[in-house]
Amino acid sequence: MKEKVRIIQLEPLLANQISAGEVVERPSSVVKELVENSLDAGAKKIEIEIEGAGMHLIRIRDNGHGIVKSDLILAFSRHATSKIKTTEDLAKIHTLGFRGEALASIAAVSHCRLISHAQGESEAWQIEIDPALNPQIEPIAHPFGTTVIVADLFHNIPVRRKFLRSEKTEFQLIDDMLKRLALSYPRVSFRLKHNQRQVRYYPALSSLTDERSRVGKICGQKFIENAIQICAQASSLSLQGWIGLPLLNHRQADCQYFFVNERMVKDRLLNHAIKTIYQQHPDFMEGTYPCYVLNLNIDPSEVDVNVHPTKQEVRFIQARLVHDFMMKCVTNALNQAPLQPMAQLGKMSLEANKPSNFFLVPPLQGAPAIINKPSRYAFVEEETGIIIVDLNQAKTFLIARYFFTQQGNIPSKTLLFPIPIMRMQMKSSVLEPDLKLLANLGFHLQKHTEKGYHLLKQPAILNEVLAENFWVEFLALLHDKSDLNSLCHFLGNWLSMDVFSVIPAPIFSALIQAWLKQAPVGTLMRLSHDEITHLINVSEYAPTQN
Ligand code: ADP
Ligand code: MG
Repeated sequence: MKEKVRIIQLEPLLANQISAGEVVERPSSVVKELVENSLDAGAKKIEIEIEGAGMHLIRIRDNGHGIVKSDLILAFSRHATSKIKTTEDLAKIHTLGFRGEALASIAAVSHCRLISHAQGESEAWQIEIDPALNPQIEPIAHPFGTTVIVADLFHNIPVRRKFLRSEKTEFQLIDDMLKRLALSYPRVSFRLKHNQRQVRYYPALSSLTDERSRVGKICGQKFIENAIQICAQASSLSLQGWIGLPLLNHRQADCQYFFVNERMVKDRLLNHAIKTIYQQHPDFMEGTYPCYVLNLNIDPSEVDVNVHPTKQEVRFIQARLVHDFMMKCVTNALNQAPLQPMAQLGKMSLEANKPSNFFLVPPLQGAPAIINKPSRYAFVEEETGIIIVDLNQAKTFLIARYFFTQQGNIPSKTLLFPIPIMRMQMKSSVLEPDLKLLANLGFHLQKHTEKGYHLLKQPAILNEVLAENFWVEFLALLHDKSDLNSLCHFLGNWLSMDVFSVIPAPIFSALIQAWLKQAPVGTLMRLSHDEITHLINVSEYAPTQN
């Protein structure tokens, strides 16, 4: 017979190990919890030492207010905290921690020691937590503040160890975690050592100018030099930070930092909304990501931080209002941004066409040379700089002109299988001279039967088989005895831009020269040498600075 199912109260150690599963996922989460404790203790200086990506050792030292001797054991009990007392407090959290779980969880899955010298006390004390023994407390020398040492993380939970990644990856996660903390606490100094080597040092900052330097250090110089500052206030909300210019052309979503009252949070709705705003900007390229560092300050009673095990998500009581405020700030900032030369010229000349596919390549030959073909832009060199031709806009003109000027000399290629063009596609029969005209344009038709013709050859620049509709309309034009100009214009409208890749360079160059003379005002972009230099400095080809 089966044993009866019974319920037991779990041992505190096991219970702590279970809750550690949520709080302490990997070494970077230990670093996060401990550094947050230091920040909550008002520390201005935090030193982090890591060995073996935190799997062997994590040591965090701060100069915060410390813990008095009589509270040391309590600090390691679950649901023991100095940060809240009542349900009302839970509704207006102003510290990073409040659940009283981190130290208990960390100690349950490692060998943990904490040394603290509380402000105003004459001695420092060390507490060592070993699940097999009673906590040991003894006097020790230590300056004001606290040091927590976590060794052999997950030594008693082998399955957790299995889920850890390589040392490099785990360390990267710690480094990323510290970046976030350092971004939200610019007035605190942080030092990170890995395997006895200093890896990061973020000195404490005292002014806004300095704050830029920390953002630059963490998000890159390129970001901070091409960012718009936001500083907005509306009743109980305020938003500060920086957003990158849309032309930053950043290809990863790794520079998107959002803090709510200094707490790093993930907000998908916000990410999405910001991206949508950027996508409407003419300088923003599809496939790139907006960059931002934003800190929202909000009355703590207006936000619920108790909705996620590691507090990475928050819920706003008035979500709509908060999001609208932020979106307005971002939109305003983007609209007021001083336009870069590229954006100015882009606005002026290329209108709604997003400048995508910009390649600056050295000229192939003497001036004026056509460089880079057949991307969307052709670059024509002239004495004062370059002219950028938006081939999308110039397309109809260029193709039409190709057929017009080259007629009679247009290379054709023989089709593998003749394509039947049936009489029903024609308004009436195609007359002999029309066949000649067609041949001059590169289309060689041969009478097949009474039912129609066969297309034997077509212009070599065409890679595709032309749709039936093409023939219906083209032959109708022929039938109406349209002039060569109209026929060429029709071809220019119909054919797509990739024919440019097949047009020989000298011919293409001549076509562009004609376009430069006849292009409607405002459809070309001229860049002077100075503007090009500036563009290169702000573009992704700029030499990276560390
Ligand atoms: P919580 O941060 O949610 O309160 P923790 O388990 O992280 O819970 O910490 C328990 C308590 O220990 C804290 O409330 C705080 O009073 C104290 N404490 C932890 N770390 C430090 C520190 N570095 N400096 C001062 N006090 C600390
Ligand atoms: Mg804590």
